[in-house]
Amino acid sequence: MQNETKADVVIIGGGIVGTAIARELSKYQLDVILIEKQPDIAAGTTKANSAILHAGFDAHPDTLKAKLNVRGNAMYHELEKELHLDVKWTGSLVVAKTDEDMVTLKELLERGQQNKVPGLALLTKDEVLLKEPNLSKDVKGALWAPSAGIFLPFGAAVAFADNAISNGVRLFTECPAEKIVAEAGKVVGVQTPKGFIGCNYVINAAGVYADDISRLAGDDSFSITPRKGEYILFDRKVGNLVNTVVFPAPSKFSKGILVCPTVHGNIFIGPNAQEIANKEDISTSPTGMSEIIDRAQELLPNLPLREAITQFSGVRAAADCGDFVIRNSEFVAGLIHAAGIQSPGLTAAPAIAEVVAEILKLNGVELKPKPSFNSHNPKPIVFKELSLAEKQAAIEENPLYGRVICRCETITEGEIVAAIQQPCGAKTVDGVKRRTRAGMGRCQGGFCGPRVTAILARELNISVSQVRKESAESYLFYEKMPGDCEVTGHE
Ligand SMILES: Cc1cc2nc3c(=O)[nH]c(=O)nc-3n(C[C@H](O)[C@H](O)[C@H](O)COP(=O)(O)OP(=O)(O)OC[C@H]3O[C@@H](n4cnc5c(N)ncnc54)[C@H](O)[C@@H]3O)c2cc1C
Repeated sequence: MQNETKADVVIIGGGIVGTAIARELSKYQLDVILIEKQPDIAAGTTKANSAILHAGFDAHPDTLKAKLNVRGNAMYHELEKELHLDVKWTGSLVVAKTDEDMVTLKELLERGQQNKVPGLALLTKDEVLLKEPNLSKDVKGALWAPSAGIFLPFGAAVAFADNAISNGVRLFTECPAEKIVAEAGKVVGVQTPKGFIGCNYVINAAGVYADDISRLAGDDSFSITPRKGEYILFDRKVGNLVNTVVFPAPSKFSKGILVCPTVHGNIFIGPNAQEIANKEDISTSPTGMSEIIDRAQELLPNLPLREAITQFSGVRAAADCGDFVIRNSEFVAGLIHAAGIQSPGLTAAPAIAEVVAEILKLNGVELKPKPSFNSHNPKPIVFKELSLAEKQAAIEENPLYGRVICRCETITEGEIVAAIQQPCGAKTVDGVKRRTRAGMGRCQGGFCGPRVTAILARELNISVSQVRKESAESYLFYEKMPGDCEVTGHE
């Protein structure tokens, strides 16, 4: 980025919401810049969550959450094909174990019907156990939602960004918004450490930081409380224990601790819900782990704890109004909030993007379709899914597909290089991991980590000591300077 640049619209935050908005706006003849403070996109809440495309029975009718959940869920059917997203339409079950839970299920069914969720049905105990034979035999019944699915939120954000960039959006990473500059009550630009970006409109999609961004412009109309959720992920060996997303009957605060498959054939349990003071707190705790294990065992008594391979947590951006905040700022003209996007924000993201485009239009922005807009991304090569003949052809064309770098997940050097070179390419080891799965297997990168680091250094033309794990300062190796502490061997 030059010291000073210009755009029609600047989007702050490269999570699934910011990238979906970037892709939506790339359909029109607008100059759009997406800025992200981290080295890679989707490094906030979008990387750590339950990855469910919710059906939409949970939110109260007349909320934005309800409306945009159902619309977003439906939109993913087309997006899946256009952008080659990994989606499995598994359906979901909300399981009742008590008479009180059965009452909750009936309420959810009615709410879902009001929200126009397709295909909802109450199942008997036998019907539930036919779908999920490993569930507790104490089950009394369940609410079945066939339109629910599971997907890869990070992959979707990268796909939105890839498509947006291919259609002309500029992405600046490591470019935090420091100030929203306004003159006479109207946005004129965004100040970043890389320079000033002049613009007429700013979209605030900064996740848990959206209230801070809003305050940068003198708008304190909402606040965000960070609410952490912890998880445990299990090896693929036990991935067939559940086939669908299995929720317990929900409480007032959360959808409860669920047992859920992933698109890659693992299962996970979680999340709990804990209000935290620090928006960066993604630690996991023994108390949290015990809590989610106890709750998950109520659903799945034979939970194979020895097969747990990792734990993680994500932070919800809970707005004080309880709903998504998608509207013009009442304090500064030209500032539009896409804030307070907690669950079902992944599901709703493409629908949120449509609403933001509509707000721009209502503000007088002419949304002229771009004749060159291409809604499709090229299909990436996933080497292990190819037939033998296709593998042979891929290696003949590019010998790097013949070198397996990640043994656990069978990821080749060709796939890693492609992930670095795609429009929204990986710049960090975790960026490669999330785009390709290198490092996501049983050994969690113990074997392939140094190899991925070396490939990143080569492809980005930087030294190994400049390669980062994920965030701006997460360097992995130190270069030894001449004369630095010499290690002497023992005689
Ligand atoms: C435990 C948990 C479970 C969930 N499960 C589901 C689910 O199953 N289904 C579902 O639909 N939703 C779910 N959600 C909700 C979903 O994950 C979020 O709604 C969604 O990820 C929010 O995306 P976002 O783009 O708003 O925020 P983020 O992904 O946090 O993106 C915001 C981005 O803004 C960047 N940023 C911040 N400040 C600045 C700045 N000053 N300048 C530039 N960039 C900045 C950040 O680095 C970040 O990349 C869950 C959330 C949690 C925490």
